[in-house]
Amino acid sequence: ESNHFPTNIVEPGQRPVSSDAPLIPLGKNTRIVLSVFEKGGFEAWLVGGCVRDALLGRPCSDIDIASNARWQDVQRLFEAQGFATHETGVAHGTLTVVVNGQPFEVTTCRCDGSYKDSRHPDSVRFVSSIEEDLARRDFTMNAMAYHPGHGLVDPYGGKDDLDRHLIRAVGDPKKRFDEDALRILRACRFSAQLGFEIEEGTYKGMVYNKGLLYKVSAERVVHELDRLLMGDYAGQALVNTVDALSAVLPELVAMKGFDQHTPYHIYDVLEHTAHVVDGVPPYRLVRWAALFHDMGKPACFFSDDDGTGHFYGHANVSVFLAKGIMARLKMSPAFAARVLTLVKRHDEVIEPTPRAVKRMLARLGGDTELFSALCDLKRGDARGQAPRCAGRIGVADELERVLAEIQAKGDAFSLKDLAVNGRDAISVGIEQGPAVGAALESALTAVIDEKVPNEREALLAFLREQA
Ligand code: ATP
Ligand code: MG
Repeated sequence: ESNHFPTNIVEPGQRPVSSDAPLIPLGKNTRIVLSVFEKGGFEAWLVGGCVRDALLGRPCSDIDIASNARWQDVQRLFEAQGFATHETGVAHGTLTVVVNGQPFEVTTCRCDGSYKDSRHPDSVRFVSSIEEDLARRDFTMNAMAYHPGHGLVDPYGGKDDLDRHLIRAVGDPKKRFDEDALRILRACRFSAQLGFEIEEGTYKGMVYNKGLLYKVSAERVVHELDRLLMGDYAGQALVNTVDALSAVLPELVAMKGFDQHTPYHIYDVLEHTAHVVDGVPPYRLVRWAALFHDMGKPACFFSDDDGTGHFYGHANVSVFLAKGIMARLKMSPAFAARVLTLVKRHDEVIEPTPRAVKRMLARLGGDTELFSALCDLKRGDARGQAPRCAGRIGVADELERVLAEIQAKGDAFSLKDLAVNGRDAISVGIEQGPAVGAALESALTAVIDEKVPNEREALLAFLREQA
């Protein structure tokens, strides 16, 4: 069965192209791909995300093609034309073909065409079993196929849902999320990328099945969470889908609806977090830090005699939770360490003076990128607080201006900038081992505090005193 693909190709002339079908402009490479299939006697359709993105007028990341050719035939056809192919997923019938540097994922489907009587006897429509391929897809907006000669095949009303900004499961939501729990996170992620609502029954199906997310590998969870956090509508999606996300991020539950009881905050902890995520630029490091920065607040809450809420030490509890989450999700230790530094220091007051900025840079190991990320986080944090805190945005701007000044002047702010090194320290009598690092640290502090100039002789004298 799996080796048999019908070859009763319907000539393009037989295809009724519906006049109201939207026209999707295709790139040159895409047209080449489709023509290679057609000249070889096969059918090929654009399917899934690229059709969705084209209808939305968004750039699409990758183009998926469904064709009725077996992968071996696809390989033969394209290599005969001089195009490279890669066996990226041949176990599931997927082959990647590369045309002028652009990759296309080609998957085999039983998308041979046939005519079928519709319910209305006056209209006999062309129905392709490409529909069978589409039935297996997750959401209506992802379950459309397009061919420039045959138009749009949209059996589940994906175009209407796109127009209504709705994410809707294909078929029975409970069944579809039970089949594959990853789809739950995909819905949250699409909502964050597109700003779409999730249709009510679909969302119920997600929440009903969220307990199955334990089956999804950490890598796939992170992949979806990354894209969610980087979305233009990440904050809104975080708040709207928290009851689904809670299965992979149970730490969010305490944040939801947690009233901060302070004049500095007009939002609950989750809403504030959502504003901060949106308020920082879209790069991974700072978006994850934004997600985590106040996670420890509910656990650190106490109310003083006036009823004002306080959260002393919350940054450290946020670090504690974030560390656990990133380990559980198997995120890279190097990335996690930088995120944790931002979470730990997000609330520290840094004076916008060269000395204070250099001291912080020294604490960050001289990592100026991390310092800028900290400024981004501080600005985002201020944007998510009450309007009276807006002044803090200016402080973060000041900090970055001071950083630029320090960099322009070439001032020392890390051990590698010092005019002496470990060997020098040992040569003046400091004991080999941790004492070397400690002596260099105090030399750096002395330079930053302008007690000693960053010159070799002066620093050697300073180190000699430490020995
Ligand atoms: P993007 O590429 O922007 O992340 P996409 O929708 O193209 O979004 P892909 O992972 O590239 O996502 O998948 C391509 C298509 O395959 C989807 O549009 C969808 O039709 C189908 N698909 C992907 N993952 C699933 C899944 N878990 N369940 C059902 N269908 C899926
Ligand atoms: Mg895709």
